[in-house]
Amino acid sequence: MPEFDPYLKENHDRFESDLFEWLRMASIGTDSAYDKEVRQTADWLAKKFTGLGLHTETIETCGHPLVYAESPKIEGAPTVLVYGHYDVQPPDPLELWDSPPFEPTVRDGKVFARGATDDKGQMITHVFGVETFLKTRGALPVQIKFLIEGEEESGGAGLKGFLNGEYDNEIPVQEKIKADIAVISDCSQYAPGKPAITYGLKGITYYQLNLTGPNRDLHSGSFGGTVANPANVLCKMLAALVDDQGRVQIPGFYDSVQELSQREREQFAKLGFSDDEYKQELGLDALAGEAGYTTLERRWARPTFDVNGLWGGYQGEGAKTVLPAKAAAKFSCRLVPNQDPKFVQVSLRKMLEDLCPPGIEMELVAVHGAPGFVLSLDSPYMEAASRAIEKGFGTKPVFVRSGGSIPVVNSFSQVLGIDTLLLGWGQDDDNLHSPNEKFSLEDFHRGIKSSCYLWDEIAKIEV
Ligand SMILES: [Zn+2]
Repeated sequence: MPEFDPYLKENHDRFESDLFEWLRMASIGTDSAYDKEVRQTADWLAKKFTGLGLHTETIETCGHPLVYAESPKIEGAPTVLVYGHYDVQPPDPLELWDSPPFEPTVRDGKVFARGATDDKGQMITHVFGVETFLKTRGALPVQIKFLIEGEEESGGAGLKGFLNGEYDNEIPVQEKIKADIAVISDCSQYAPGKPAITYGLKGITYYQLNLTGPNRDLHSGSFGGTVANPANVLCKMLAALVDDQGRVQIPGFYDSVQELSQREREQFAKLGFSDDEYKQELGLDALAGEAGYTTLERRWARPTFDVNGLWGGYQGEGAKTVLPAKAAAKFSCRLVPNQDPKFVQVSLRKMLEDLCPPGIEMELVAVHGAPGFVLSLDSPYMEAASRAIEKGFGTKPVFVRSGGSIPVVNSFSQVLGIDTLLLGWGQDDDNLHSPNEKFSLEDFHRGIKSSCYLWDEIAKIEV
């Protein structure tokens, strides 16, 4: 019998009852009416860590506390930083839940509760993984540092302050949480039975463009054709940013784009993604995007431009023949690894200034930006995680990327200079942030088992 199986088997039911106990605590971080429950949730976790003999701290912040725990340093072996969050989204609308959000209920082998998959259920697999390892072998082969926050769903001000060195003066933060690799389980598998390692994320650069023309709204008959209309100009300027082939027209935009390798393209192609099902799911008769790339390649690894909102002029019922004095839009580009949001911003501003005609005043507000992330498929940490997941799930993981961004991954890269392994045990349809959030209990146990092996596999990497 594989080494960890006896302990996993013996504690199978207790892992579940512990999880349910934790899920019963309504740790809604964004609503101060639940401050007591949030604190109780953090305390519960801290007690778990203490029970494992880990050096444990509850770090007070401007918001909810961080729960930090670490095992002893192992000379010559990597240190792993495990990140997760114990806060949950508000459960509203309550009437759409089939069972109460804070009364974990099992149906079809899945536990339904707020936080089941995002992120209490996934995060705790690593706590039980460490427990199983310790109880089976007596000591961990790598140093593990847990950094678990309570404000992931509400802005993360506490973690930001901590990473800026605001709360712990004894040891500089870069020293305290120094690690060789970070591990986060707060995402999904590719599909049921297809565990995945997410090795790439997109970055983003987000703007608001404000255009102002005449000093007041004008009659479009009396004044039309004699002055520049900000709404017309807005359409023209936005349209110039992307061509018919889906190529973004900002000068230099593609210069630093990390191209997909042949190996990546082959791996994406093997995932069996269906354009037809995708169209059907979205109610479309055709897809669109950058020419020369498949749907998955566009979603995961090609930069994009999208208008996120635009307004100007009359929007009520009927007709109003107005020539609006102002028009504006919010738009963003999703970026891919190696693209620099600052470079894009400078080039975009210059392009828009050149496009903006006399008679229109332009203001471009840069709202926020973050670079993309990619971990090499050849990284020894990827290989270690892949072997661990194979042992935990009984099947090799697939390698996927995501069109989204995870700010904490960028923080770990900037503050600690380390990469992150994104190991998701959930499913895309787990209803995170929605009513009836769920998590497969089978995947919960497979996650725990993968976690046990992960420490062992990472220990083989020389540092
Ligand atoms: Zn989450």
